[in-house]
Amino acid sequence: MSTIPHRLAGRFALVTGSSRGIGLAVAIRFAQEGAIVAINHRNDPEDADKAIAKLHEVTAAAGLPKVDHRIVVADVAREGDIERAIGELVSGWGRLDILVNNAGIQSETPGDEMSDDDVSKILDVNLKGPALASRVAIRHFLSRPGGGVIINTSSVHEAIPKPGYAAYAMSKAGLGHLTRTLALEFAEKGIRVNAIGPGATVTAMNDAWRNDPAKRKSVESHIPMGFAGDPEDMAPAYAFLASDEARYITGQTLYIDGGLTLYPDFKHNWSS
Ligand code: NAD
Repeated sequence: MSTIPHRLAGRFALVTGSSRGIGLAVAIRFAQEGAIVAINHRNDPEDADKAIAKLHEVTAAAGLPKVDHRIVVADVAREGDIERAIGELVSGWGRLDILVNNAGIQSETPGDEMSDDDVSKILDVNLKGPALASRVAIRHFLSRPGGGVIINTSSVHEAIPKPGYAAYAMSKAGLGHLTRTLALEFAEKGIRVNAIGPGATVTAMNDAWRNDPAKRKSVESHIPMGFAGDPEDMAPAYAFLASDEARYITGQTLYIDGGLTLYPDFKHNWSS
């Protein structure tokens, strides 16, 4: 018997970039907790179909009635796409309660080489996308009683610089301040805005090391707890933050990182 609580029963949730990786794990966890979930992808129809099948499977396995899980195709970097996608959900479902801004990309942008195009691409997906999607969701949340919840997938690089990846680090630092600013702006309207900051997580974003034992060991040697996280290590915290149990939490980034944000270099005192 599953011991997963049904804290999101009857809530309608959109998770961007959820055909795989952390977004998929969050979508599955939300469905297990009773939510009706929209899987978003930009150009990944096969994985999105598999994701929807999985959502129906976990809803049934949780002993819940069949619900209207959906797929919405949208490039979060395009204002028109995200407006249409959220509009489609609101007119189909009648409401949206939870927006998870999770879609993200990463590529190298060395400080002495980064181009306008490299920087724009990353900021458009990782920062402008969440800002504009939040605007659309907030307008909807304000239009009816009950408020709403936004959760942004940030990163340890919201706080930790990432040499060679300035655009990615800028995008996540910006996302942290988007989180705090919107949280304050709409606190009294029943809208909560928080972020999750994953550490090294075993997803396609880390294809450079996830399936290479030597490279993975090297990555994991930097993590105080000694291992990289799975998407399923992230998902329960999203469900908690989306639920009423977190009703007094807003404007926070919760790092889930095996201790990466604890200044590991200070593990053994090297100062006075
Ligand atoms: P991933 O590459 O498996 O997933 C990213 C998802 O975003 C994919 O489904 C991709 O199709 C989607 N996506 C990308 N651009 C999009 C766009 N323009 N419109 C719609 N969807 C788009 O990687 P992941 O690790 O699951 O990444 C999810 C989030 O977690 C990202 O925001 C990433 O920055 C963040 N994150 C990941 C790690 C990690 O170590 N994997 C660490 C910290 C933060």
